[in-house]
Amino acid sequence: MRKIFFNLVVIIFLLIPTSFSQKDSIRSIIVMIPDGTSMSVLSLARWYKTFTTGEPTSLHVDPWLCGLVKTHSSNAPIGDSAPTTSCYMTGYLSQTGFISTYPPKTEQDLTPIDENRAYQPLITLMEAARIKLKKSIGLVFTSYLMDATPADCAAHSYNRKYRDAIAKQMVHNQIDVVIGGGSQPIIPYVDFLKEEGYDVILDNIDEFRHSKNPLTWAFFGNTEMPYNIDRDTAEVPSLAEMTAVALKKLSTNPNGFFLMVEGSKIDWAAHNNDTKTIIDEFLAFDEAVEVAINFAKNDKHTLVVILPDHGNSGIALGNTNSNKGYDKLSLTQIIEPITHHSVSAANMADILAKSQPEEIPQLFKKYYQIDISNEQQKEIADALHYHLNKNISTEEKKVSLSLEKTITKIVNSNLYIGYTTYGHTGEDVFLALYHPYKQIQCGLITNVEVHHFLREALRLENSIDSLTNECFVPHQLLFQSASQLKIDSINPSTVQLHAVVGKSKIVVESYDNFIKINNQPIKLSSVPIYVDKNSTFYLPREILRYLP
Ligand SMILES: [Zn+2]
Repeated sequence: MRKIFFNLVVIIFLLIPTSFSQKDSIRSIIVMIPDGTSMSVLSLARWYKTFTTGEPTSLHVDPWLCGLVKTHSSNAPIGDSAPTTSCYMTGYLSQTGFISTYPPKTEQDLTPIDENRAYQPLITLMEAARIKLKKSIGLVFTSYLMDATPADCAAHSYNRKYRDAIAKQMVHNQIDVVIGGGSQPIIPYVDFLKEEGYDVILDNIDEFRHSKNPLTWAFFGNTEMPYNIDRDTAEVPSLAEMTAVALKKLSTNPNGFFLMVEGSKIDWAAHNNDTKTIIDEFLAFDEAVEVAINFAKNDKHTLVVILPDHGNSGIALGNTNSNKGYDKLSLTQIIEPITHHSVSAANMADILAKSQPEEIPQLFKKYYQIDISNEQQKEIADALHYHLNKNISTEEKKVSLSLEKTITKIVNSNLYIGYTTYGHTGEDVFLALYHPYKQIQCGLITNVEVHHFLREALRLENSIDSLTNECFVPHQLLFQSASQLKIDSINPSTVQLHAVVGKSKIVVESYDNFIKINNQPIKLSSVPIYVDKNSTFYLPREILRYLP
């Protein structure tokens, strides 16, 4: 009997490490989004790297490419950053400008829309990872906090331009690590964030490198980060360094983390058809991919998903200059002229704005190594006039190309790189995956399916929708038994809800996770969202727990 018992104990003991092991579990997720990156950008960046290093080479993302993503809005095949990343984060298609918010019905919907849910905030994977799974969460980007892609992860609005409301939500959404561009919008929140225990670092690379606090918000550049090509490397970190710092801080949480890293300004450069800057921004993003993959390989519990949100510019290797003889062009002929471009078009516009018109030809020689014609010089001078003259109506400005686009039109005219538009494009985008223990064949998946894949990896299959219902209850429903219910507009971005339920006086301020019940401050786990379209506060059900 004793022997049988002993054997049983041995068997159970042997079983424990396999049946209860965490070996096959994803603890952390890194989602990496090169904003507005069409497939040709990868081909071009790879050839650029091959030419400049002098040997056949690959991108860091290359080994992990595994499929394509069909990405679009709820009512348009060509997407905008707000609804496209929203869809990865929430699992719902939405409209241009909508930040993780359910869309209203339109006449051109591509998917069934439930009118009753219009404007409802939708919980994001990042919010769910924090609230449900107690993971740390982080955002790394090169644009600014309230820009569509970072906002999609941790804010809710039907209008991406409501930047004050979006910034306030993000500040109150308990994001452990934020590293990005744009110090200016953070200034009003520095004291609050410090009181909450954060290191707040504005344009200080030494402080950034020495901070040991796992709670850190760090920003570089006044309104956004400079393009990588224009970056002062002594003052501003690379996207790869920002990613490494974020990973170091987030990985201190034993529950794991959810991090979104965005190469934000690939999209901006693509809107300008700024060839060298597109390539350079993508290569900087690709360096961050290397950092993330190396982290995941060491960690063995981290999933890395790399995918753009939408295409942009119709960029192509080959254009009307190569209608004939395209197959005779050498790598040198295609790439070498691009290597001579040393500034972004946006930076060149600033340089031109500070110069005299007669200096235009020598500035093009200096920064692009090209000789411009008299006609091109006049085009630049005209665009410069529009650029500098604030009194010219925006209507008049709209019919002329901006200074940046006039610069790239001239610079691109000798290249073999083509563009079809200054806008977004609707083709499928690439999908790359690093999974620590599974080989995944993807084929073509939809943006909704990307969300479900991430949701499953987090083991949140059934809880995302229920969490939306927990965190965003319309105030009329939550406070059904209220004897008083009043909404006061304090200023355009601050609205207060006053409710009296039994003997409790409740005051909720829009986008602030601290509420007051009988004058006592209470910290909520999610942020109350006010939607002016239907005069509704969407509130967490947890408020009821604090009522006597
Ligand atoms: Zn864009």
